[in-house]
Amino acid sequence: MLPEGTPPEFPTNLLEFQRMFPDEAACLHYLHRLRWPGGFICESCGAVGEPFLVATRPRVVKCRACERESSVTAGTILHGTKTSLLVWFWAAYLVATQTPGISALELQKKLGIPRYETAYLLLHKLRAAMVRPDVDPIGSQWPLEMDVSFVGGKHKGGGPGRTRKVPVIIAVEVRRTEQRDPQTGKVVKRALAGRVRLQQIPNKSAAAIEKFAKECIAPSAVIRTDDGGEFEGLAACGYGHQPLPMLGNRARMDAWLPLVSAVTANLKAWLDGTFHGVGKQHLQAYLNEFMFRFNRRFYRAVSFRTLLGLGSIRLGPTYRSLYDRDWLHRDAPPSDGGCGKTG
Ligand SMILES: [Zn+2]
Repeated sequence: MLPEGTPPEFPTNLLEFQRMFPDEAACLHYLHRLRWPGGFICESCGAVGEPFLVATRPRVVKCRACERESSVTAGTILHGTKTSLLVWFWAAYLVATQTPGISALELQKKLGIPRYETAYLLLHKLRAAMVRPDVDPIGSQWPLEMDVSFVGGKHKGGGPGRTRKVPVIIAVEVRRTEQRDPQTGKVVKRALAGRVRLQQIPNKSAAAIEKFAKECIAPSAVIRTDDGGEFEGLAACGYGHQPLPMLGNRARMDAWLPLVSAVTANLKAWLDGTFHGVGKQHLQAYLNEFMFRFNRRFYRAVSFRTLLGLGSIRLGPTYRSLYDRDWLHRDAPPSDGGCGKTG
């Protein structure tokens, strides 16, 4: 019997996950509830009611009225896979919840996947699901901190021209929160990193910065930077540019751009620690993964579903947890840019 009611919640820890998804049938059950939260509705004839189950194909149901078949995995990366749903669910859970991510070898060992290639492909598919085609601009609601940093491969020595590190633009939303101190009763204001955008650029130049801004930042956003020449064109592009001379003073930099400094340190540690340096060729894929993890660090449940492609399934409007900031912005129109200089 197929369940009815609102879509299922997501487990918040490993034990809950284990209880919720003990076997293949439980994963299937979850997919059914996500796909048809109010009970089965035939997409072909609109008939409502319990469908026929197809014994030989557990991922397929058949409408009792028109006999049209529907697949519970249609539109997800699970569609047509020969790997068990349980393995997929575990992989997505591990990838979504482990802060540093997971390597194919580690995944293979943890889940007892017989072939390395299967684990590799599985991770590859999950990573592909991290790239959203509809990335919306940031900075419409909150000011931004922005900086350029050289990250990636290890320095080979032999002078400045020999580095394999590449320039990356990092922009971070500066959100303000107010919390009342329970002891003093005073309201404490603090800055919190919101969403980030990271992009590998060909060189540290004004043209590269303006191109990035046009693609990723909302027109007339307020942007804080150091006084580097590469940022000089931002004001002419219509942004509220706030440059501050750093005078070679690290403490000054950390005070003016604390969030972008923290994100940069995080990114470098993650790249070095998890992947032992990343080449130029694949850097943007890892930047995408970093962004995916960072922007969803408070929404693990959503990232689990996004990874499995379950976000594309129509979900019941009652499911409030999906409507976090990221999802609210999903259909926002892309920025048409605020700068005429880069065309
Ligand atoms: Zn039907």
